Amino acid sequence: MYADFIIVGQGICGTFLSHELQKANQSFIVIDESKPFTASKVASGIINPVTGRRIVKTWMIDELMPFAWDAYRSFGDKLGIDCIKEKPIIDCFATPQMRLAFIDRYEKDQQFLSLPANENNWQSFLQYDFGYGIIQPAYLADIQLLLKKQRETLLTSSLLREEYFDATQLSIKEDGIEYKDISAAKIIFCDGVTGYDNPFFPNLPYGLNKGEVILVEIPGFPDTHIIKKGYSLVPWNGNTFWLGSTYLWEFDDDKPTKGFYQFAENWLKQTVKMPFTIIDHMASVRPATLERKPFVGMHPAINNIGILNGMGTKGCSLAPFFAKQLVDHLLYNKPIMADANVQRFKKVLSR
Ligand SMILES: Cc1cc2nc3c(=O)[nH]c(=O)nc-3n(C[C@H](O)[C@H](O)[C@H](O)COP(=O)(O)OP(=O)(O)OC[C@H]3O[C@@H](n4cnc5c(N)ncnc54)[C@H](O)[C@@H]3O)c2cc1C
Repeated sequence: MYADFIIVGQGICGTFLSHELQKANQSFIVIDESKPFTASKVASGIINPVTGRRIVKTWMIDELMPFAWDAYRSFGDKLGIDCIKEKPIIDCFATPQMRLAFIDRYEKDQQFLSLPANENNWQSFLQYDFGYGIIQPAYLADIQLLLKKQRETLLTSSLLREEYFDATQLSIKEDGIEYKDISAAKIIFCDGVTGYDNPFFPNLPYGLNKGEVILVEIPGFPDTHIIKKGYSLVPWNGNTFWLGSTYLWEFDDDKPTKGFYQFAENWLKQTVKMPFTIIDHMASVRPATLERKPFVGMHPAINNIGILNGMGTKGCSLAPFFAKQLVDHLLYNKPIMADANVQRFKKVLSR
């Protein structure tokens, strides 16, 4: 069979890439093995416009936020689902210094920060000693639902093969590539954390980062906001909340640990003033990069092979934007932003 593109991976990157190619009437086939705990399947879906102790705006957020909102809305409309919501973040101050830092920042720039009219509003649900600030707008993308629905659609149209992609079976020709029975013009790797071992993109500066999460039932707890107090407590599904996450640069494996479970349980006991039941515990590894910028574009030495990866902690906002940019580049030769373009590693990748 012939397809314009093969996409390896159906995480948030492969999902948005398949959507952009559909919009542009390109033919493709997605190859994705069905793994339960990929980064996209474990992520909470927060799009938070500010970051760090200094509460500064995240990279490109003025462009990314409106883009992400429209992209999830229109993709959701196509699939008949609602997959993005506005969810303000209650940022509980852990120390008096953090309170001062927030107020200082708020006084300089109120685009995403506000202070509550009554700081006691959350006292019947939450333990917090130094007050809180509000981050808004912030978004919550339901990427679990989006991935599931797009997968169903692709499977129904025979556009997705649920199998392992074996790179040793890929042959690169002058005018395209061949993989098993598929001939294609190009192949794009959206393989997430396994991209670290991708033989076509060796030595890219990944800085893989593990995160653990628990799911907890808290009947009656409000689902109107995301709560941030060290960890984030995120409305998930009905009475169920997502609690996470750790950011570990050094780790032995991608499995859940007893240590995190205990931390999370203690956090809940100390923070949530309502009965709760922990119902699940998951872990995954983020395809983060040392420069904290993604890898997007075509291989500098092999022109039929491309990549959309390295989304790190921000896949929910970066993947829609860079999937579109990659498709515009492939079809209309529009430029890919220099900071994200994988061509910046030309020397490393041409060896
Ligand atoms: C705990 C945690 C919380 C997070 N929370 C957020 C958040 O709130 N907001 C946010 O923006 N980001 C968050 N992230 C980061 C986000 O999850 C990632 O940036 C994003 O999911 C990466 O998507 P991806 O498509 O590149 O990779 P993945 O989700 O890993 O998808 C890659 C896909 O490729 C498949 N694949 C790989 N190799 C092969 C092969 N050889 N054959 C077949 N299939 C293959 C895999 O099975 C997988 O389905 C979080 C991550 C973690 C771990």
